[in-house]
Amino acid sequence: MIPVKGYAAPKAKIPLAPFKFERREVGPHDIQIEILYCGVCHSDIHQVRDEWGGSIFPMVPGHEIVGKITKVGEHVTKFKVGETAGVGCFVDSCRQCPSCLAGLEQYCDVGMTGTYNGLDKEGKPTYGGYSNQIVVDENYTLRISDNLPLAGVAPLLCAGITTYSPLREWKIGNGHKLGVVGLGGLGHMAVKLGASLGAEVTVLSTSASKKADAKKLGAHNFVHVSDPEQVKAVAGSLDFIINTISAQHEYDFYLQMLKLDGTMVLLGVPPEAPQVAAFNLIMKRRRLAGSLIGGIAETQEMLDYCAEYGITSDVEIINIDYVNEAYERMLKGDVRYRFVIDMASL
Ligand code: NAP
Ligand code: ZN
Ligand code: ZN
Repeated sequence: MIPVKGYAAPKAKIPLAPFKFERREVGPHDIQIEILYCGVCHSDIHQVRDEWGGSIFPMVPGHEIVGKITKVGEHVTKFKVGETAGVGCFVDSCRQCPSCLAGLEQYCDVGMTGTYNGLDKEGKPTYGGYSNQIVVDENYTLRISDNLPLAGVAPLLCAGITTYSPLREWKIGNGHKLGVVGLGGLGHMAVKLGASLGAEVTVLSTSASKKADAKKLGAHNFVHVSDPEQVKAVAGSLDFIINTISAQHEYDFYLQMLKLDGTMVLLGVPPEAPQVAAFNLIMKRRRLAGSLIGGIAETQEMLDYCAEYGITSDVEIINIDYVNEAYERMLKGDVRYRFVIDMASL
């Protein structure tokens, strides 16, 4: 077994603290990665606080992982020692169901194996990227370009692919008016990627102070949702909305901003189930949809796209002992725009 140092939540809602554990030896199809950076996703907070139910403790969160390959198994063909690699939200799936065969492993019929807070095929808990080493099957590992700053690349493994996938699925781009709700980790990537694909992007935020940043990130318009005049002006005008809000809110408030046949894609996963007024959908044939991260092939496509166009996340690099404070700040919407842990601080 490989000894690993990390940070774990011992129980729900208890602060994370140093934690030692072991990973499996590198198997024939595995690679071992020395983790350099790991992003902090709001899903880490939901799961550490057991807001979705079923959390497994102790929990080592983290699914926005980049690092250097230090060892490869004898049958590994895609990676070499010394290369940079990434790991996202899952590390395995059944590999046989229609979703897996279609490269949509995130929708695996049997259920993907989460990078953390999951159980592997032997029924052992998985531990994530708030740690210094990880061992992953090469088929669930991503190639990372060395041309971009690695700390800014780490969040692409979740925030990047989660926003890229619906943009591609709904073919959002030139000629579309795209609303991005919530300017946090996912939201700021939706702005960058949406603008890069040619959409006219409007940020819909509860934080008036984020207006200048929204423009710098590539947004064309900014709506402070507490200002009724600004909200009225955007009503019935958007083709698509990407909704990244992590907390309970009114879907109807945003649905009214869609034009005829407009679609709101939910990415945020508030713990509480909200109500939706049927009239808000019926009257303009609007659609309410959802999307979950992305498959391995699409994640690689997104990483290659970002490398080509120089797109990374705007990050605040932190030491690992700051992670509990980072969670508190994210809960207040105070993140610009992704915390990334420098694993050298471990
Ligand atoms: P984040 O960085 O904390 O950003 C969330 C943003 O939502 C905040 O910055 C804030 O933006 C807004 N917000 C927060 N509370 C709000 C409230 N009560 N009312 C209105 N707006 C509020 O979080 P994230 O990492 O981007 O994750 C966002 C959500 O997506 C989480 O629920 C996460 O679990 C989920 N997620 C889903 C997937 C998927 O596959 N679908 C993948 C990753 C994450 P403003 O200050 O601009 O209002
Ligand atoms: Zn995530
Ligand atoms: Zn499957």
